[in-house]
Amino acid sequence: MKKIGFIGLGNMGSKMVINLLNTNHEVIGYDVNEKLIDQLIPKGLKKASNLNEITNDIDIIITMLPNGEIVEKVYESILNKLKPNTLVTDCSTIDVDKAKFLHKKCNKHNLLSLDAPVSGGVVGAENGTLTFMVGGSDKAYNLMLPLFNVMGNKSVLCGSHSSGQAAKACNNMLLAITMIGVGEAFNLGSNLGLDANKLFQILSTSSASCWSINNYCPIENVGPKSPADNNYQPGFSANLMLKDLTIALEAIENTKTSAPFGRKAKENFEAMINNEKGDLDFSAIINFNK
Ligand code: NAD
Repeated sequence: MKKIGFIGLGNMGSKMVINLLNTNHEVIGYDVNEKLIDQLIPKGLKKASNLNEITNDIDIIITMLPNGEIVEKVYESILNKLKPNTLVTDCSTIDVDKAKFLHKKCNKHNLLSLDAPVSGGVVGAENGTLTFMVGGSDKAYNLMLPLFNVMGNKSVLCGSHSSGQAAKACNNMLLAITMIGVGEAFNLGSNLGLDANKLFQILSTSSASCWSINNYCPIENVGPKSPADNNYQPGFSANLMLKDLTIALEAIENTKTSAPFGRKAKENFEAMINNEKGDLDFSAIINFNK
């Protein structure tokens, strides 16, 4: 069985680790917040007190960290200590260029590497139903596949290095746009005197149906349970959505893609966050469209 080092035991990482431990994998974990490591020790996690300790005789490193700058810092500390052909898989959401740069660094150290951001949120991490969007070589992907299958129920090798981050940027830009559109449609319906539940019945089964309506409707007591039924407690916060839109916008600039709706979506989330509502679920954007 491969020995796994897991770095970043926050909302997502801690749950992904529990699924690995529950399937009898040997995992050593590290987080700058020591409490988060200690909470997982009763579940079978071995503790690394620093990044050096996580590199000893390890086969696979997984990182689940807040942003690209932190992933780079962590890589700087560990890459030169890993044995050749160790697989380094970054599941954090980071920008496409940084992912490319980090793959090159891994390559220089004779390491295998994947970028593998996820969709599915904290619930998906807990239930082992994440989707992994993966960039890298077939060899690295096939090595990682059994672990993707433990932590998620779908993984797609999107292409070579950084393709996973590229797919994630496209997905989350579209999610932001559809959620804003769903909010506008329900606000218009309300202003026209329509009952929100009746409108849901139509939209969720008509040509306008989409995940933001069917699975995550932003109105209380309409559709399946969602953050709207819990005062918009996240879920997926507006702050995280803005982070992902910033990544998408950088890619839009770099590739000279025409994406006026993506740009506008970023502006709307910035306005929500400037209003000190960044900790609310991103679906609360419905109240900022009014
Ligand atoms: P989080 O802030 O809960 O967890 C990140 C962890 O990294 C924290 O525990 C923090 O202490 C640790 N950390 C920070 N710097 C570190 C360092 N130098 N060394 C070791 N540990 C360090 O964030 P999260 O919600 O778990 O998200 C992690 C990643 O997953 C992010 O890139 C996020 O964009 C992405 N993501 C999150 C969600 C979600 O719903 N939360 C969904 C999809 C993707």
